Formats: sequence, C-alpha cells, structure tokens
Amino acid sequence: MQDCLFCKIAQREIPADIVYEDDQVLAFNDINPQAPTHILIIPKSHIATLNDIEERDQALVGRLPYVAARLAEERGFAADGYRVVMNCNDQGGQTVYHIHMHLMGGRRFTWPAG
Ligand code: ADP
Repeated sequence: MQDCLFCKIAQREIPADIVYEDDQVLAFNDINPQAPTHILIIPKSHIATLNDIEERDQALVGRLPYVAARLAEERGFAADGYRVVMNCNDQGGQTVYHIHMHLMGGRRFTWPAG
C-alpha cells in the first residue's frame, strides 16, 4: 500500500529500529514506548485491520504471537509475563491502519484496559 507507514517501514523507505525479520514478518521498537520493551510485530503484506484478515492470512497472522513469544523469551521476561495487544479501528484505539501486535514487557500491567 502506497501511503501506509508500516508498509514503508517494511520496504525500508522509512527507518525503524528493527529487532526481528523473516520472510513474512517484521518487528521493530515502538517510537513511543509504553513499557521498558515495546515492540510492534507486523506482517510484511498489507492488512489494514483485524476485520480485513482473510482465510488465507491465518497462518501469517498466527505468526505474530509466535514471534512475540520468541522475542519475550529472548529478552528474558517470558516467564514473568507480558502484554500483547492488537487495537481495531477507532474505538479500539487503532491509529496505524496496518495490523500490528504490540509486545510490551518489563513491567506489571493492569486490567481492564483503559
Ligand atoms: P496507538 O497509536 O493508539 O497505540 P495503534 O495500536 O495503531 O494505536 O499503534 C500504533 C503504534 O505505532 C503506536 O504505539 C505508535 O507509537 C507506533 N508508531 C507510530 N509511528 C511509528 C514509527 N515511525 N516507528 C515506530 N513506531 C511507530
């Protein structure tokens, strides 16, 4: 997608602090971290919102929590615990319309979400 910020990051047109990459998925540090570790994990292909996930995308989207858990393990907070979040559309708090999983760790999180 031409005007998508995260597509541009995936295509290296905009710089980001990339922490993981494979053929399907990219992960980079959030520019405005809400926890000691705050990483965004995205599919390289454009999917605007959770509502736009198609049958054929299931394995790709399933890779996001898989990579999140690997990164949590690597950073040493997997056993203590962490938070993953995906926001959908306006009321869900989504501001970038390319699906992304927030991986946040290194502090205690509260529930319910605000
Ligand atoms: P929110 O902005 O409310 O967290 P989202 O769930 O859509 O909504 O998350 C978008 C995330 O993208 C935010 O955490 C924001 O800090 C992050 N972000 C925006 N621009 C960049 C960028 N250029 N590089 C890294 N992270 C970014």
